[in-house]
Amino acid sequence: MLTRRKILQLTAAGAATLSAQSTSSVPWYKRATRWGQTNITERDPVRYDIAWWREYWKLTQIQGVIINAGGIVAYYPSKFPLHHRAEFLNGRDLYGELAKAAHEDGLAVLARMDSNRTTEDFFRAHPDWFARQKSGDPYREADKYVTCVNSPYYDEYLPGILQEIIERSHPEGFGDNSWSGLTRERICYCDNCTRKFQAKTGKALPARKDWNNEVYRKWIEWNYARRVEIWELNNHVAKAAGGPHCLWLGMNSGSITTQSRDFRDFREICKRSEFLLLDHQSRTDATGFQQNGDTGKLVHGLVGWDKVITESMALYQVRVASKPEPEARMWMVEGFAGGIQPWWHMVGAYHDDRRMYRTPERTFRWHKLHEQYLVNRRPVAAVGVIWSQRNTDFYGRDDAAEMVDLPYRGFTQALLRARIPYLPVHADDIEKESAGLAVLILPNVGALSDAQCQSIRQFVQRRGSLIATGASSLYDEWGDARKDFALADLLGAHAPSGEFGRKEAQQVHSYLRLIPEMRTKVWGPHAGEEPVVSGTRHPVLQGFDETDIIPFGGVLEDLRLDAGTTVPLTFVPAFPTYPPETAWMRHPKTDIPALVLRTVGNARVAYLPADIDRRYARTNLPDQGNLLANIVRWAAGTRVGLEVHGPGLIDCHLYRQPGRMILHFVNLTNEGTWRGPIDELIPVGPIQVKVKLPDDVRGRSSQLLVSDAKPMVAVQQGWASFEFKSIVDHEVVVIA
Ligand SMILES: [Zn+2]
Repeated sequence: MLTRRKILQLTAAGAATLSAQSTSSVPWYKRATRWGQTNITERDPVRYDIAWWREYWKLTQIQGVIINAGGIVAYYPSKFPLHHRAEFLNGRDLYGELAKAAHEDGLAVLARMDSNRTTEDFFRAHPDWFARQKSGDPYREADKYVTCVNSPYYDEYLPGILQEIIERSHPEGFGDNSWSGLTRERICYCDNCTRKFQAKTGKALPARKDWNNEVYRKWIEWNYARRVEIWELNNHVAKAAGGPHCLWLGMNSGSITTQSRDFRDFREICKRSEFLLLDHQSRTDATGFQQNGDTGKLVHGLVGWDKVITESMALYQVRVASKPEPEARMWMVEGFAGGIQPWWHMVGAYHDDRRMYRTPERTFRWHKLHEQYLVNRRPVAAVGVIWSQRNTDFYGRDDAAEMVDLPYRGFTQALLRARIPYLPVHADDIEKESAGLAVLILPNVGALSDAQCQSIRQFVQRRGSLIATGASSLYDEWGDARKDFALADLLGAHAPSGEFGRKEAQQVHSYLRLIPEMRTKVWGPHAGEEPVVSGTRHPVLQGFDETDIIPFGGVLEDLRLDAGTTVPLTFVPAFPTYPPETAWMRHPKTDIPALVLRTVGNARVAYLPADIDRRYARTNLPDQGNLLANIVRWAAGTRVGLEVHGPGLIDCHLYRQPGRMILHFVNLTNEGTWRGPIDELIPVGPIQVKVKLPDDVRGRSSQLLVSDAKPMVAVQQGWASFEFKSIVDHEVVVIA
């Protein structure tokens, strides 16, 4: 059992000198990278052992704490009579005592708010502050009433609470859990919303969800704008009362689909924030630990790589029982690989299951030791994967998981498996982010504006290669179909119809036929000339020498292609599969293209009408992942700056700091890779690495930050080669 005495013994030797930091002139949000949170329950005021937790803060080397203050439940004697006190608070100022203790220990304090619903007495006192259904009935969550974001609850009441908390305890800032109000699944018809929407748009509120309706679309944008307004208002209040470094921070999800559902415009929020709190606590079986590495890179792409992103990482598997340590650790180290800083999170201040107390200890200690390599660095990658929240909204609409998330996940998983580092790139940031990129990938990015398409075109004109799948660029920024792909001039292919790619079509037993290279003048039903057959297969089919087909699983329509395109794969439609006697191809060969390749100037362009990216996310078939990786290698030419050899599923991330390169390798090979939680880590190795060095890195020294070794590095023509024995959870290599 981890008693208080044991903790004292553990920390005696290495008691942190965190208090020294409080005198630093660097603001807290530039230096506090390790965080902890005991999410206080209403029962805790009678059992919170502050002295024990102070020792635990030291043990886990944290520099900041998130302490429950107010919102749904107040943990201090608020002057606002309707601010609901924790049931067992009994007049105690638990929040204030903890904030004082944390400040004495040199920790930054974020006062935790959860501002979106109230108890019934509040509703009775201010019935016009609450979200209403069309019937006039209030929206409720269990026994609570949901407040409306357009009401004085947000404009007057909450600012008063923030000011009160600042006056009482001077926190460094605020972290608000459910700050953004009703999700887009529910339209609020309260008087405030009715009046404000009318004033803004001249229209009545939309009667129902209808993505094709102009008023509904305006309502979506109006909702986004209101959340940005709330972000700005709360920051204004916090800074006015608490000084220029007092930040108000709403929680954000690592999932763009969730951000969309919550009307949180990630790009606009990141423009307005010096520090980010992510509420993205653990993996799902479908997305894996690697999703945290992806999230870190995606969000840093928005907020900048000089800012700190910290993420609430659950130490519980089910609410109050411990998560196996390896499961929690892997989520943390994948976060490090993507530039996310750690924040342990437990629910309740007393636990029957004490094993979770041990979980952050070693990982946080390692983080403290090597923090200089984990912050303020620039990513290095040859491949950019395009995304946008607007595409999730207006192309994905109610099916974003299938239309947007799956293609993205399938393509990025194929890159991970092929050990090709990539960066998520927002469609509005292509010019800013693409300087070092060799390839841009559009994984079924249906909705693209004319301006976004123009920046993609300019990228290709600058010799950048392009890979697009599915309905990419067929829809405008509202999700309305164009007559053809906006990028048809680059793709060399023309959309069969405006509804192409609007729904996911599945035919489990369809296939793709690998064919000898053909260079066409005209392809398809209107063909005037026979294709020219060269007799050899294209390099993108490397590794498939002994097969003429690979499984597909989707459906393809005929496409019109431009002259000079190459079609190495064609569609084989599904056929009966049962009983086995019927299982033969009725149409073994068609002219329907599944992959279209061409060169535009010096750039290579691949268009995949076949939704191999989405299919790969669904089926995990190695053939499909290998095909995607082959296409990327063909498009990138020699410009992928990393080769990694050795067994296992290894996620590779590259960074640079002045004079040195930092390589993260996360070993995703384990007994629960696709089904959490894991409780055993399985080492893989040996690992051979060859990496292209930036001009200011000579490759004279190397250091393994996890296994604490210094492998020999050979440098030849700007490439460094080295080998190391194995990776258990992760390895970070610094080459200087
Ligand atoms: Zn309302």
